[in-house]
Amino acid sequence: MVFLRLLLKDLHNAAEHFLWQPVCLFSRLSATRMPCEANRRFLILYGSQKGQAQSIAEGIAEEAGEHGLVADISCLDLNEKYDVERAKAPVVFVVSTTGDGEPPDNSLKFVRIIKKKTLASDHLKNLCYALLALGDTNYANFCNCGKTIDSRLQELGAKHFYATGHADDGVGLELVVDPWIEGLWEAIKGALSIMATEKDTHIKETPSLPDVKLSLLSLTDTDGQNSDPDREPLASDSKSLFVASAQTTVSEPRQASLSDSPGVSSGSDGIADVSKSEPERQTGDSGVPHTDLEASLTHSLPPLSQSALNVPALPSAFLDVSLQQDKVEESSTLLNTEMPQEVPISRAVQLTRGDSVKTALLLELDISANPAMTCLPGDSFEVLCPNRTPEVQQLLSRLGLQEQRNHCVQLSLRNDTKKKGAQVPSYIPENSTLQHLLTWCLEIRSVPKKGFVRALVEYTGDGMQRRRLQELCSKQGSADYNLFVRDTRLSVLDLLSAFPSISPPLSLLIEHLPKLQSRPYSAASSNLRHPGKLQFVFNVVEFPVCSGRPAGRQGLCTGWLSDLVSSMLVQSADAPCWPSPPTIRTSLRPNCTFRPPSDPSLPFVMVGPGTGVAPFIGFLQQREKERQMKPEVPFGETWLFFGCRHKDRDYLFREELEGFVSSGTLSHLRVCFSRDNQEDQTPTGPPPGPRYVQHNLLLNGQHVADILLKQNGCLYVCGDAKNMAKDVNDTLIEMIRAELQLDQLEAMKILAGLREEKRYLQDIWG
Ligand code: FAD
Repeated sequence: MVFLRLLLKDLHNAAEHFLWQPVCLFSRLSATRMPCEANRRFLILYGSQKGQAQSIAEGIAEEAGEHGLVADISCLDLNEKYDVERAKAPVVFVVSTTGDGEPPDNSLKFVRIIKKKTLASDHLKNLCYALLALGDTNYANFCNCGKTIDSRLQELGAKHFYATGHADDGVGLELVVDPWIEGLWEAIKGALSIMATEKDTHIKETPSLPDVKLSLLSLTDTDGQNSDPDREPLASDSKSLFVASAQTTVSEPRQASLSDSPGVSSGSDGIADVSKSEPERQTGDSGVPHTDLEASLTHSLPPLSQSALNVPALPSAFLDVSLQQDKVEESSTLLNTEMPQEVPISRAVQLTRGDSVKTALLLELDISANPAMTCLPGDSFEVLCPNRTPEVQQLLSRLGLQEQRNHCVQLSLRNDTKKKGAQVPSYIPENSTLQHLLTWCLEIRSVPKKGFVRALVEYTGDGMQRRRLQELCSKQGSADYNLFVRDTRLSVLDLLSAFPSISPPLSLLIEHLPKLQSRPYSAASSNLRHPGKLQFVFNVVEFPVCSGRPAGRQGLCTGWLSDLVSSMLVQSADAPCWPSPPTIRTSLRPNCTFRPPSDPSLPFVMVGPGTGVAPFIGFLQQREKERQMKPEVPFGETWLFFGCRHKDRDYLFREELEGFVSSGTLSHLRVCFSRDNQEDQTPTGPPPGPRYVQHNLLLNGQHVADILLKQNGCLYVCGDAKNMAKDVNDTLIEMIRAELQLDQLEAMKILAGLREEKRYLQDIWG
């Protein structure tokens, strides 16, 4: 709820800064078009790491036609394809944020260009733009890339024609994305019409306001249950936000199959009518009435089951796929290029006891033959893991392509595609076999986006199943989509199993599944202590049984690693090296900021519960060696706040940490056990001790505040982004507030300043 409020505040602030300027714009992409068409053209630029921003940008481009507009689209870094300095059309930016607030890889160049200090303050005075920033409030620098681009464009004289949207993946991007896009069309038309009347004139100093209606959108909860802009506006509710709204229906009437499904038909406005009686629609293929059942992945309850639906536009198909028998696979070349380092796992240790809730493993890589993998404390590296063989087989069989698994996949763009900026995915190598493609190139476990679900509708034979899939991708079914698909992290294979009448072509999967992502891990060792070795620690992720997932499953990479080392797993850190070890593909991902202070005399505080302790083991190993090598150098105080559930079950690195304390490398070790205290507690017993790291931090607040505020020291946080990092952040604000007798806002500013100075650093994931 807090995040939603922050997000609402962001949007509200953005709306307050809503500005409009008539423009004299020029786009290279539109330079050769007919004037009337040019008056309808606008440009979309996206920066995308995992494909979300790109897919939203492509969705906007596709929908443009329904509004009588023509969109050009380009990735931000392809700056030879567009010209924002002399833009003659409105520009819409859609940008995500990655890592610790960094720009996506394909917008780094653009960000570098606009950040040049030599640019004049009117450099982009001709640019009239709207910006949709994607982020996740679970991470500290929410929408940082979008915000950075936005503020820099403003500094360079560019003008908004529409309020900036900040969409939060933590609560569901669509909460902001859907209404933002709805309002965009009227804003673009307003921009274009003023542009037409002001043609060949330059930007006026005095802004004239656009003819864009601002309406209030009410959001009642973080779960997306109420994001309908057609609802009655709330006059002055703190939960309301301004968005420019053009009362449009985001839908596309398209295929005959939409209207031929029993129980559902599509009107010309894309709103599906309920044409069958309720009992008919509540009866599944088995003939069992579903009215008494709970809602699930495959079954809905009223009012959703009776509702007319706004379904998204059907994404245009863009790939032709053929399978050839006689080609030779060259797939290993790609693996070599992407992940050049193939390193053996020399040791595997289970750090947690068998009865621990989570299983934490330490793996040691032998990097003696791969010096490029040598890490500094604070660095992380990436592991490329394949999709699980049984899942690939299941998918092949579901697609009816098992026999062709060793055929080479040939991809080309469809001549008739309407998809703007369509490209053959660059991460699929030429001549790779179908099996290789499904194993190493596509994230087959990724949660199908609504556009994908919408596309699957077209290949679903059974009417009831088609209706349910329509619900899941519709505006009205947003809460069900979040509950049954997004939050439980179902995969396309789960949908194919739950809806047996879906029969998609291979091309659809290649079009909609993103690139298989490598998984980063923090180095948990120092090269000084373990030359030629690199250790890391992880919890095996467990996905429980849920509607649509009849059996629990493990995380893709952690499950795979755990299986890979199952035969060599020991419980002692002194285990010998394994004679014929398995290998994994990795690449280094240096972190230039998450490092111990370069001045060893400065004190620092480390907060790392659970596997978050990993980089601090590297910090402390390094420091211990440095202390031995330079006994004359003064070393500052070090604090470590660690936490786990039970002292005897999951206290990771206990002996090593106690050893650091004995040697004086670690000045203060503060450990708490979240479950032991509870279990030991009796009505007459002592009061419970601190349960979580933030409680211990608060107990030592004065020391920590001194280190940060008076001794120029640093504080590092590593681990779970969802809860711990936020709780620690709140605790630090509270600590600074109490220490300096400030109000909340002032304390927040001080913490933000420490972050700016790189003295408050986070390495968090979740
Ligand atoms: P996946 O199959 O990718 O699934 C993980 C996803 O599922 C996550 O989004 C998670 O939030 C979600 N999830 C987990 N459990 C559930 C559930 N029960 N229900 C629904 N959703 C769930 N991890 C470590 O363990 N140790 C490290 O040192 C480490 N260092 C990292 C450093 C960086 C810079 C980053 C970005 C991440 C780091 N991670 C680390 C996280 C790591 O990269 C992986 O994300 C993690 O190991 C899970 O990978 P996986 O493929 O097994 O899980």
